[in-house]
Amino acid sequence: MDENLDWLGYDLSHEGTYAKVIKKLEFLIRRSFQYDVWQKRSKIGVTTCPICEGEMHFLKPESHHYPQTLFDIVDSCLQDHIYKNDLDELDEFDICKEIMNKHLTNQVEWVVLCKQCHEKFHDNVPSVVEAMPEAYKIQKEKREEYFNKTYGGTQ
Ligand SMILES: [Zn+2]
Ligand SMILES: [Zn+2]
Repeated sequence: MDENLDWLGYDLSHEGTYAKVIKKLEFLIRRSFQYDVWQKRSKIGVTTCPICEGEMHFLKPESHHYPQTLFDIVDSCLQDHIYKNDLDELDEFDICKEIMNKHLTNQVEWVVLCKQCHEKFHDNVPSVVEAMPEAYKIQKEKREEYFNKTYGGTQ
């Protein structure tokens, strides 16, 4: 990274500080009203957990950012602005807004998991971690199929 990467009093050229800023932005994003809207919207059309195949009706569905984590998404947004050299014109809320817009305009990828499998993934349970790429792919296809059937095309 360049020198002189001061943003809102944070030295972004310092790796630890940079990660802390991302965590802070993540926190603000997760607490926003729009994030709540996305959480609800992102689960539409998903009836089973792609890992354990349990019925979501009986489980607690949760949306998990995948393959990019929310941390990655915030990171690439900041990198973008560092590259464009316009970060100075923006504050934390501008970045949060930009990322929420990405969520609400379908520019992020995710997978809906039951609460249990979600926790197992974050706990690095090997069977769940290994099953994830395929589970994500299949669910994404099913979700797109559902949306095409429900909102587009002829019946
Ligand atoms: Zn599950
Ligand atoms: Zn997660």
